[in-house]
Amino acid sequence: MSERELLRTTAEHAADFLDTLETRSVDPSERDVDVLHAALGGPLPEDGLDPRAVVESLVEHVDAGLNAMPSGRFFGFVIGGALPAALAADWLTSTWDQNTGLYAPTPAAAVVEDVCRGWLLELLGLPAHASAAFVTGCQMAHVTALAAARHHVLAAAGWDVARSGLAGAPRLRVVVGAKRHGTVDLALRLLGIGGDGIEVVPCDDQGRMRVDVLKLDATPTIVCAQAGEINTGAFDDLDALADLCAEHGAWLHVDGAFGLWAAAALSLRHLLRGHERADSWATDAHKLLNVPYDSGLAFCAHPESHRAATSMHADYLLHAEDPRHRDPSDWTPELSRRARAFPIYAAIRSLGRKGVADLVERSCAHARRFASALEAGGATILNEVVLNQVLVRFGDGDYTREVVERVQREGTCWPSGTSWEGEYAMRISVCNWRTTDAD
Ligand SMILES: *Cc1c(COP(=O)(O)O)cnc(C)c1O
Repeated sequence: MSERELLRTTAEHAADFLDTLETRSVDPSERDVDVLHAALGGPLPEDGLDPRAVVESLVEHVDAGLNAMPSGRFFGFVIGGALPAALAADWLTSTWDQNTGLYAPTPAAAVVEDVCRGWLLELLGLPAHASAAFVTGCQMAHVTALAAARHHVLAAAGWDVARSGLAGAPRLRVVVGAKRHGTVDLALRLLGIGGDGIEVVPCDDQGRMRVDVLKLDATPTIVCAQAGEINTGAFDDLDALADLCAEHGAWLHVDGAFGLWAAAALSLRHLLRGHERADSWATDAHKLLNVPYDSGLAFCAHPESHRAATSMHADYLLHAEDPRHRDPSDWTPELSRRARAFPIYAAIRSLGRKGVADLVERSCAHARRFASALEAGGATILNEVVLNQVLVRFGDGDYTREVVERVQREGTCWPSGTSWEGEYAMRISVCNWRTTDAD
């Protein structure tokens, strides 16, 4: 079979899978690890297998163990779908297989990243001069942005962390909210800032940082705020935090994995008031923008500090001399990587500014409808439904856990669970372009 034929038949398999999304159970029909191992495992193959047979065997044997995450009836975690244009561009990204490190060998990939940087800054209401990193997800976006933050605030205190590391460095204050996402802690840990070095500010009942109890001083400081709490969708008061950080020369970082997309919709932008005055922002393209995995974004209002934190040099890698030639690897912890901007470019081009706004607004409208219908049915809605997240309890926590498990096993839709104020709750997150009123 020719390579062309292989790709054709593979495209048919992909389209066949998408056709099943309307009707299939969201929950995997097979979750027994021994059964999956028996179907997919076995000893290391000694001899090769024809590519078509490889693909067909994979398609046949993974199917029962797949969750219909891209379906419009998946509401677990915060999981975006894949827009058709973004999915198609993602296939091409693998086909073109560009190592997106430097401008010179792959100018189109580098230019598309730079174009997306500009479009994203405009969509998200961020300063036009901000730098951008195209990374795997919000986790690595935090690593990138907080590396820039660490570099910047220590440089202002006369310490070059790139040269001297953290041992012996001036004291660094790192402030987070009690309801921060765990990826912030891991990013800090990777940057040499352990749990004991983090100051935790209490939150209110929606998970918003209590800015009124936060006191800053002249110590080099990084404040990690949140736009979109993972359970409630609540936003920290970024305007007040920006004032406080400006007054004390602190760096304000915003975790806006999904919440930053409120900026794209006129009716929701007020939730982010002041966000453009932060110093760095982390978000995902694989959540509300509906780009396939994996796709995260870091933005930084101090490009020199960003680049100082993430660029590397090797004699055989010749960097661009023309300042208009942006070398993608200067801005990410990764050197070799896929041209992650192609599917982002396709998503934005296929929707336009209006389509992105509509996608975000529709997701939030579905969430409000979930909340009002469930409340009318006797459930308790635990959050103010300001964005696309709904937090629900059915009687007590134990009963709610049973409801979540039974709803998941039934397979029509797939909410997930969480612990809220010490008791189990159901989380519903609407994040997929496919979700309809009927869903
Ligand atoms: C999803 C999420 C993250 C982590 O993002 P990944 O893309 O999974 O790395 C961080 N913070 C918040 C608020 C999130 O919703």
